[in-house]
This record gives sequence, C-alpha cells and structure tokens, in this order.
Amino acid sequence: MELAKVLEIKSRYSEVQRQIQEACEKADRNWRDVRLMLATKTIPSEYVKIAIDLSHTLFGENKVQELKVKARDLASYPINWHFIGHLQSNKVKECLNVASVIESVDRMSIALEIDRQLQKQGRSVDVFVQVNTSHEQSKFGLEPQDLHAFLRQLSKIETIRVKGLMTLALFSADQDKVRLCFKTLRRLFNEIKNEAIDRIEMSELSMGMSSDFKIAVEEGATLVRVGQAVFGTRSRPDSYYWPEKKA
Ligand SMILES: *Cc1c(COP(=O)(O)O)cnc(C)c1O
Repeated sequence: MELAKVLEIKSRYSEVQRQIQEACEKADRNWRDVRLMLATKTIPSEYVKIAIDLSHTLFGENKVQELKVKARDLASYPINWHFIGHLQSNKVKECLNVASVIESVDRMSIALEIDRQLQKQGRSVDVFVQVNTSHEQSKFGLEPQDLHAFLRQLSKIETIRVKGLMTLALFSADQDKVRLCFKTLRRLFNEIKNEAIDRIEMSELSMGMSSDFKIAVEEGATLVRVGQAVFGTRSRPDSYYWPEKKA
C-alpha cells in the first residue's frame, strides 16, 4: 500500500479526534464520553487495517454483505462491529453473526425477526432504535411520535436490549436545521429516560457523521459515525447507501 495513503488516513484520523475534543470543550463535555465509530462502507479492509494499527476498535457497516466480508478479513483483530444500515429480514441472521450492536432497529417486523433468531441461539443483543428526525418522508427510522409506543413493545422482547437512539440528520448546508435534528433526538432521549420504561436503557445517542459530527457532539452525542472525514470522499452518492423508503 502507498505510504502516502497510510499517512493521509492517520493524519485525518487525528484531526477528527482533535475536532471531537474541541467540540467537547466548547460544550463543556468530557471527550471520554464521546466514542468515535469509523463507518467503513466501500473502504477496502487494508485501509481499515490502518485505523486498527492506530488501536481503533469500533467500526460500522451499512450493508450485511460488506460487513461479512470485512469481519472475515479482519477476524484476527480485536475489533467491534456495529450495523448501521437498513436491515432486511432475510439478512438478520448473518448480521447477528457479526454485529455486536444493531443501531438501526426501526420497525416491529425487524425486531420480531431479530428475536426469532436470537431465541434459537439462546442469546440477546444490544440495539439502538433509529428515529427519523429530519421530517423527510423518504427516510428510514421511526417517526418521533411513534417512538414511545414502540419502545414499550420492545421492552417486552427479552432478547433485545435497547441501549439508546440513532439518527441521520437532514442533509443540508443549513447548520441550524441539522442541529435541530440532533436536538430532537436528544429531547426524545431525555423524555424516554424520564419515562423509565422497564428494560429500556437510554445511555447512547448515536448521531453525527463527517459533515456534522461537531454539531452532534455539542448536542450530546455519545457516539459519532464518521467515514469520509477519515478515509476520504466516496465516489457513490449517499442515496445509494440510504435507499429511499418505498411508499
Ligand atoms: C456512511 C454512514 C455514516 C458516515 O458517513 P460519512 O459521510 O462517511 O462520515 C454514518 N452513518 C451511517 C448510517 C452511514 O451509513
């Protein structure tokens, strides 16, 4: 591999870490309370390995097929995978074989399929519930008004341990609009915490990506999901990874 590429990824990685710390200072938060997850879609395993060499351990994939391949390539390293994409029922089993957290639980049918697979295996899994905070009809994620009822239902499924919430903010150059998405997720997080639903833990707020992680940290993110800011720009448009929801 080219040395230039290695150095580039390493320096971008420290720059992202520095910016997280800066955002924490601005918001009077402890930087240890914010975890960086590297979103590795389209990034070859050999580049992911550069981050592993920097002792990075938390990675996220958006498609099960790609998750499987990378988890196999990198099986000898002590790393942790989160699933962050739109999960289809027929991929749940394979996803559970690798992912330690599914961040994108957004409907009862998928929760029931996760439960069905886990029952067979006699184990449980940590999940975040994905919320649509952008008011875009086409986006995946639960509508905020449906979240409370959904969590009450989830709390009855013993194989599923809810740990927090996840969102994708509006894709917009208007920082105030982006910030509003994060504020919405934070508000829901606090409401649910106060509701104290049995077995529903609210300790993780997964929000913020390359273009907006600083704002997300200021608004209380405990986990930011960053890809391009570390690995460089992707050639495919984002719409490829976040397919439109069919009406
Ligand atoms: C790809 C992805 C990210 C990271 O996006 P970047 O623009 O590469 O930082 C965050 N969250 C999800 C769900 C993703 O699929």
